[in-house]
Amino acid sequence: MAITLNSPVTEFSGIGQVRASKLAKLGLGTAGDLLQYFPRDYEDRREVWPIRSAPLEGKVCVEALVAERPRLSRIRKGLDLVQVKVADHTGVLHLTFFNQPYVEKSLKQGEEYVFYGTVEEQGRRRSMVNPIFEPIGRRDVTGVILPVYPLTAGITNHLLCSLTRQTLPCAGELEETLPPSVRQEHRLAELEFSLKNIHFPANEESLDLARRRLMFEELFYLSVGLTFLKYRREDLRRGIAVRALSAEEFLKLLPFAPTDAQRRVMGEIAADMGSGRPMNRLVQGDVGSGKTAVAAYAAWLMVQSGAQAAMMAPTEVLAEQHYRSLSALLDAAGVRVGLLTGSLTAAEKKKVHTQLERGEIDFVVGTHALISDRVRFQNLALIIADEQHRFGVAQRSALAGKSGEAGSPHVLVMSATPIPRTLALIVYGDLDVSVIDQLPPGRTPVETYIIREDKRARMYGFVRKQVEAGRQVYLICPAVEENPDLLPGAPDLKAVKSYAAKLQKEIFPDLKVGILHGKMKPKEKEAVMIAFAEGDIQILVATTVVEVGVDVPNANLIVIEGADRFGLSQLHQLRGRVGRGKHQSYCVLVTDTRNPDSMQRLRVLTSTTDGFKIAEEDLKLRGPGDFFGSRQHGMPAMRLADLSGDMRLLQEAQQAAQTMLSADPRLERPENRGVLRKVRHMFADTPDIFN
Ligand code: ADP
Ligand code: MG
Repeated sequence: MAITLNSPVTEFSGIGQVRASKLAKLGLGTAGDLLQYFPRDYEDRREVWPIRSAPLEGKVCVEALVAERPRLSRIRKGLDLVQVKVADHTGVLHLTFFNQPYVEKSLKQGEEYVFYGTVEEQGRRRSMVNPIFEPIGRRDVTGVILPVYPLTAGITNHLLCSLTRQTLPCAGELEETLPPSVRQEHRLAELEFSLKNIHFPANEESLDLARRRLMFEELFYLSVGLTFLKYRREDLRRGIAVRALSAEEFLKLLPFAPTDAQRRVMGEIAADMGSGRPMNRLVQGDVGSGKTAVAAYAAWLMVQSGAQAAMMAPTEVLAEQHYRSLSALLDAAGVRVGLLTGSLTAAEKKKVHTQLERGEIDFVVGTHALISDRVRFQNLALIIADEQHRFGVAQRSALAGKSGEAGSPHVLVMSATPIPRTLALIVYGDLDVSVIDQLPPGRTPVETYIIREDKRARMYGFVRKQVEAGRQVYLICPAVEENPDLLPGAPDLKAVKSYAAKLQKEIFPDLKVGILHGKMKPKEKEAVMIAFAEGDIQILVATTVVEVGVDVPNANLIVIEGADRFGLSQLHQLRGRVGRGKHQSYCVLVTDTRNPDSMQRLRVLTSTTDGFKIAEEDLKLRGPGDFFGSRQHGMPAMRLADLSGDMRLLQEAQQAAQTMLSADPRLERPENRGVLRKVRHMFADTPDIFN
């Protein structure tokens, strides 16, 4: 039976229920799925080498004649060996096949084959173990650029190659959904050509054309979908408009004068919230740029207009810290600030719930506990999410759902993960973006050093020196507890504990060493943070739980162990824990890596303190996974496009999307209907995008 797009994989020969269920793990149920399952890489097997001069690095193809009858021998039970000599005009190659007895029959003396494998050399004897081979001229697995697919257990690349090859004849059946005008203007290859060449490229040029077309397509649908999200927001119910108040009233509450950047962003927020349309704004500001004050301003504005505000933080430590500083700040303005976290007792929670429902708390700061079903507000009109990268679209909208009859709540998202602006506009296409691109005055940049183990004793001496000068120190260990995927192989929690104990006992017996990690009870964490903030702890050994937001201006040194295990942006976040006060601050990165790439990466941190530059480097080096690799952001998964490397294509695709949408905003024209279907499919997990 002929394979069509909808043929289930079980119709391919050799695919039974067992393999089908393994393929299902890769999302491959039909021929159409296979056709759209793109290689992650390619192996160029086109070049054929003479036996004598074939390089010893990597795998190569040689064309050779089988010079003798292959010999099969059984070494012992479970170990068969086939040996045979093959030759070309330059020399002889000794082949050995382990446990492939059939090779004895399939390689025929006197015939020519292409062998693909690694050439090894001992003296002048050249050999190859377990090469792949096929008759000259067949070009199934040699002489071509072969795709390398993402795999799963029980599914080999060989199998996937064979399956996708069988689906190529259906490539013409897939509907071309890119409008002809877009294809022409941006010089994009046709779909059928692109699909065939993304799997089995005829040559580099064809592969480039195919990739460009398919990546453009993804980015194009992404841009269209995000623009729709924006439209939808503009159609929404009205948000509660705040009264026009002079910011000076608020600024009087601050213990410092705001920076120009803070002022500008406050102005943007006031304009948003005064417009009657629900605000949906992302405030990006490097660590220490003063986002909290901006958030406090938004909450103050809202409460002055008689409605409630809520602020969601990613960790209890941070929620509690915000609660303390915000209530200190806003008390004087009569704003009643409350705290709601998972670790409150049932009775305490109940009390907060009641107060929120009765409107006796104006501004609540909390963790995920805010999303709980039991939480009801009297009049919630502003939601602030701090450190956005830990929050998904889903959580934002769950909280937005609590605003009741009042209207759509305003949403303010704060992120210290600086994402290059172009990227932010695309990735957070449904948000407006403000940037606090200025640090408060008087900050001296954190001096950053990379050291190796042999300098450890000196490093401890430096720690002591800071403490003796009255400062405090963070010592960060890469423990796996919040995100095990992030740091595979890192020391476990015990290591952090025993490390802290060792420091206290052997290195700093006369100093106060504290410990903070994600597995501690919230109450314990809070106690430690307070002790550190108040100077009762001098050296805080911590995991990355201190990464976000924690603010202790007297701490002026952060030592990061195993620094090469962290991402650059994460290191930058950690470094942002110091340099918050008037003292010269230091960041010491301890590493023993011998990997030149890792060293190069770390050097970026010593050369700049500009979080945006660092984020750009991080994007280049590690890909965008940290920012939006995971679905938690509510972003559709990309098959091909790499949102970091393809900036130009991204902009081109976005511009194409705008052009199309300005002519046909609802995609009603026949030539654009396919786009609509594609975008619906891509955003299938984002509820209500088209309502
Ligand atoms: P982040 O943007 O990292 O959340 P914070 O809001 O925690 O930064 O502010 C960092 C520190 O800088 C805090 O101690 C805060 O009080 C202080 N700060 C904020 N804005 C200013 C300013 N305009 N002038 C002086 N200090 C400021
Ligand atoms: Mg902050």
